Amino acid sequence: MSVKQFSLTVASLKTATPYAAYSYSYPHKTAYRPIAPALPLREVWQHEAKDSLFLYVHLPFCEMRCGFCNLFTTANPNEDVVDAYLNQLQRQSICVKRSIGTARYTRSAIGGGTPTYLSAGQLARLFDLLEHSFDVVAHQVPMSVETSPRTAEDDRLRVLKERGVTARSPSEARRMRSCKEIAMR
Ligand code: SF4
Repeated sequence: MSVKQFSLTVASLKTATPYAAYSYSYPHKTAYRPIAPALPLREVWQHEAKDSLFLYVHLPFCEMRCGFCNLFTTANPNEDVVDAYLNQLQRQSICVKRSIGTARYTRSAIGGGTPTYLSAGQLARLFDLLEHSFDVVAHQVPMSVETSPRTAEDDRLRVLKERGVTARSPSEARRMRSCKEIAMR
């Protein structure tokens, strides 16, 4: 690449929106739609292979709302809102478990949002829920958790480490500002 070509590239990068490369590898949320008629979850799963599933849990909370973000999340909810969400997650987990039946999970992820927005106690409750509802224990099933430098407090990281989490990935905004992948071991 010539100097001229390089400078043009830098110039175009400077004028381009910083979010030009922000892309999804999964359907945009506007792609989702009601299924009519609604199908019972048990029927949907009836003939699916369930011996190597990926368990994903969404925590829709962040300490700030990034301007470019269109993910399902909300900024700075109080503790009661997070507790209410965990209560609902518990109820939903029971329904999903009943519908799927016996299953084996080989990978898992806790994303959002910024899951480490939860307090250490709330995170511990979340891990208990995953263990009791789906038999998913991070010591046995590889698990990643999204986090951000601002919420990566010692007490929360201690919970992740104690529960066997092996990888944390910074959520998008933090990836752009101060990317750091932190190995738990
Ligand atoms: S931290 Fe991530 S999920 Fe939260 S608002 Fe920013 S980009 Fe969206």
